[in-house]
Amino acid sequence: MSAGMSEALLNRPVSELHGVGKDRGRRLAKLDIHVLRDLLLHRPRRYENRRRFLTISDLHRDETGLVLGRIVAMGVKRFRGGRRSVFEMIVEDASGRLHCRWWNMAFMEQFFKVGQELLIHGRLTGEKPRTMDHPDTEPVQGEDSEEEEQIHLNRIVPVHKLTEGIHQRWLRGLIHRELISLGEDIPPPFPVEYPPAFPTYPKALHDLHFPEEMEDAQMARRRLALDEWLGFQLEIQRRIARLRAHAKAPPCQGNNSLIRPFLSTLPFGLTEGQTLALRDIRQDMTGPMPMRRLLQGDVGAGKTVVAAGAALMALESERDVLIMAPTEILAEQHHRNFTTWFAPLGIRVQLRTGSHRPEEERKEQLPLSSAPERPARVLIGTHALLEEDASLPNLGLVIIDEQHKFGVSQREQLVRKGAYPHLLIMTATPIPRTLGLTLYGDLDVSILPELPGGRGDIRTHVRAPDRRNKVLDFIADQVDQGRQAYIVHPRVEKDDAGGLKSVKAEYEGLVRRFAPRKVGLLHGRMKPQEKERVMTEFRDNTVQVLLSTTVIEVGMDVPNATVMLIENADRYGLAQLHQLRGRIGRGSHDSHCILIGEGSTPEGRIRLETLARTRDGFEIAEADLKLRGPGEFLGKDQSGLPPFRFADLAADLDLVELARDLAREHIRGRNG
Ligand code: ADP
Ligand code: MG
Repeated sequence: MSAGMSEALLNRPVSELHGVGKDRGRRLAKLDIHVLRDLLLHRPRRYENRRRFLTISDLHRDETGLVLGRIVAMGVKRFRGGRRSVFEMIVEDASGRLHCRWWNMAFMEQFFKVGQELLIHGRLTGEKPRTMDHPDTEPVQGEDSEEEEQIHLNRIVPVHKLTEGIHQRWLRGLIHRELISLGEDIPPPFPVEYPPAFPTYPKALHDLHFPEEMEDAQMARRRLALDEWLGFQLEIQRRIARLRAHAKAPPCQGNNSLIRPFLSTLPFGLTEGQTLALRDIRQDMTGPMPMRRLLQGDVGAGKTVVAAGAALMALESERDVLIMAPTEILAEQHHRNFTTWFAPLGIRVQLRTGSHRPEEERKEQLPLSSAPERPARVLIGTHALLEEDASLPNLGLVIIDEQHKFGVSQREQLVRKGAYPHLLIMTATPIPRTLGLTLYGDLDVSILPELPGGRGDIRTHVRAPDRRNKVLDFIADQVDQGRQAYIVHPRVEKDDAGGLKSVKAEYEGLVRRFAPRKVGLLHGRMKPQEKERVMTEFRDNTVQVLLSTTVIEVGMDVPNATVMLIENADRYGLAQLHQLRGRIGRGSHDSHCILIGEGSTPEGRIRLETLARTRDGFEIAEADLKLRGPGEFLGKDQSGLPPFRFADLAADLDLVELARDLAREHIRGRNG
């Protein structure tokens, strides 16, 4: 059989397979099994080693085990006027008896007969009598049947996810039959040669379902994961190749006429990391390829100054710069900073957010594009910038701050606003390497490895709620020493149900508690002008304590603030806590992050302990990825990742790297 033929075979609808038919085909579709390939890739949810059973008397409470026995009695008991029921059966082997119970599933009765032999897999919930609740069961047909020997017994068998009308044995038999009939003739998804340690595609598919040993199933999983990673990396590498072939970057080599005076007026010298990052950026923006660079630096590392330097390079070449921030507050802060830095250099800095539009612009109906003779400018905004459909023909550079808040597709959308502008993405989220290679595989990376010097220490304390009064005393004391504090609450409105603190309910109390010191209130539902006013008051230290929701999470930069109190801290994700803590420790004074929380869940406790133990963003991100999994780590629809069946972000770093190298070679080979 030729590869083309088997390729077509793999795309055969399952309903056409022998013994399936229309009805079962529809049911399989519920498991996302549409064509033969889907069937072969239907990943077992676990395996059972049926070479060895426990005897019933070997089962111990709370342990999971597999036994083989015969049904000696069964029946349904009803109670509460028939609204509740339990179906119970007693199974016996040579060593003893086991009770199996299903609550409120009386229909189960029809699937069993007294005298039937059964495999039973489950956790023992009681020893007197030995009992399992809702175990997995599978009838045994009789040990001398040949199919039985080959597929369902005396081996490691797969246990698959099922749906109504699809039984374990039937599905297992179907997969086995199809694998046998395809034999070695299954073409891999990509014509790329893998290192010899990886099983071939046909062997991997076979071992996925019918491994000789458990290691074979693990190797199969890795091989199939590599296929998925490779598909993803090929996509990325093709994108890079396309960019190389078609894109022509706007020349932004600059001439130092703006950068030099800018750097000389900064009240500090650049860190080595900042200098190196600017050097990378300069090199990128001088070349014919549009820059695609990720600037990674922990909270407080000083990414904004690097962004300003990059912007000036484009401005020196008379190109516009677009800066996109994830929140209005952050856009406004950037607007303020860039105006302070750039106005003396004669550069216009404009703010565009959902609610903020410069008045004069609305009147003039200024198009976003600038006429050739107008000087270049900086445009700062939130995602509202994305909704503008005007294109920016003079655009030289796009800067995206705090990329983790944006999806990959948004990134693409922004870049399409110009022809092929240079792109700088900044993130404080220390992205675990696997994810970095996956999400940012098409980007070059500059890292700010150290925080600027001359900063105070940050100490992190976890406190039980009953210590709150002491903590507030401490804050008052810090304020009296001239410092400022953030107090973060999870909710805007009062919400008794969950016992969560809310800012509005808390505000009045704190105003009284801290008088005559001033307390400000900030949350997402306030009008933009009010937010701006409160922020200004806090920045100017007319307000000393800022009570806020997590709207201050990213970007806020007030170096005199040295206390961060987080209420209900165990409710937040690690990354968010790390971001919040990043608001302090920005000045020369020592800072204190105080986490109030009970550690109501073990996971919540681990998060607080992790945060108290380390300030290393990478360590925190790795822990976060482990605790939450990639979907939640990134925000589900923002992850930009395809649905993986086999790939495991937390475990597959070596596979991602291998996939990247294979993809590069493959695409290079093709392009000659
Ligand atoms: P982030 O990387 O979190 O965006 P910012 O750009 O907000 O950090 O910088 C944090 C603070 O550090 C700001 O107050 C900024 O002015 C200051 N800063 C930046 N670079 C340096 C430096 N080289 N030396 C001292 N302070 C710096
Ligand atoms: Mg920042």
